[in-house]
Amino acid sequence: MSKIIRKKICILNTGGTILARSDKNDDQNGCENGDENGYEAGGLEFLDVFGSILEQFKPDTKKSKKDHFVFADFSLDIITPFSIGSQDMDNAHLLHLGKEAIKASKKYDFIIITHGSDTLEESAFFLSLLKEIKIGVILTASMYPPNDKNYDGTANLEFALKSALKSDIKSVRVAMNGELLEPKKLIKFKSWGKDAFCQSLAFDIGILDFKPFSLPKALPKVAVIYADGQFYPSLYNLKSLKGVVLAGMGSGTLPKNAIKFFSKLKIPVVRSSRVAMSKITSKEVNDKKYGFINANHLSPAKAKVLLMLALSKKSKDIAKYFENF
Ligand code: ASP
Repeated sequence: MSKIIRKKICILNTGGTILARSDKNDDQNGCENGDENGYEAGGLEFLDVFGSILEQFKPDTKKSKKDHFVFADFSLDIITPFSIGSQDMDNAHLLHLGKEAIKASKKYDFIIITHGSDTLEESAFFLSLLKEIKIGVILTASMYPPNDKNYDGTANLEFALKSALKSDIKSVRVAMNGELLEPKKLIKFKSWGKDAFCQSLAFDIGILDFKPFSLPKALPKVAVIYADGQFYPSLYNLKSLKGVVLAGMGSGTLPKNAIKFFSKLKIPVVRSSRVAMSKITSKEVNDKKYGFINANHLSPAKAKVLLMLALSKKSKDIAKYFENF
């Protein structure tokens, strides 16, 4: 008798609106002008929200047990490393997520991650750069909480699961609103609505299999500084930092006094833009002259992830990593 080969899938839950707890059962939450009632991102258990989806796939009740499900052609393990609002996704959580994903990539064929939507871009990008992750990873989120009539978590999770079942990808994707999006291009361009995410049109190059980093033990202190026409140098004492990312204007422009201030720093200074889809050019700011690193098409948040990883590798040529983006 031939042995059944089941795809081994693992779901890592990290919290977010997709698993948000709310005390009120509210039909009004979905209004596009903003939610009237509060909720706590994370807080619910995966099975409280998605138990019925798993029923649909008809688990083998004899072989399944708590947090481990066996279906005709796949098995599923549910793991919750932590449950937070992704606005609290600090470096320690990012490293924890990386560690869990690497552990799972040694044991499973595919990983699905439920995550808050606010820092989905950074986490997906971070994981996509780690060479230890050799299997497919799909992150998903929701824009409305489970008690909202517009809840999009069920559709997104189902889409992520079906994509994981039929896909052979060995890299990271984000499943939102029926689309599989590339971490490098991913942008959250609206703070509401199921279609809050899209891919940046700034990139002319396709998918890059660029995984130059091993998961570091710690991430260095890097800050993002948002620029506008009025810059106050006296506000910034950056002595404890190992690097800075500037969210400049337009194509990465900065006021003259900011250029002067940042060009004197002895740490890497990466120039990106606060514009959602950006291409940084040297037409108005001469990177060579001021010693800045051009973030190319990366958003400030993703430029920060790349800079932290490059610094942790103690690379002498940090700019070379940015050339790929
Ligand atoms: N603040 C929430 C989070 O990122 C928002 C969401 O998940 O949509 O965790």
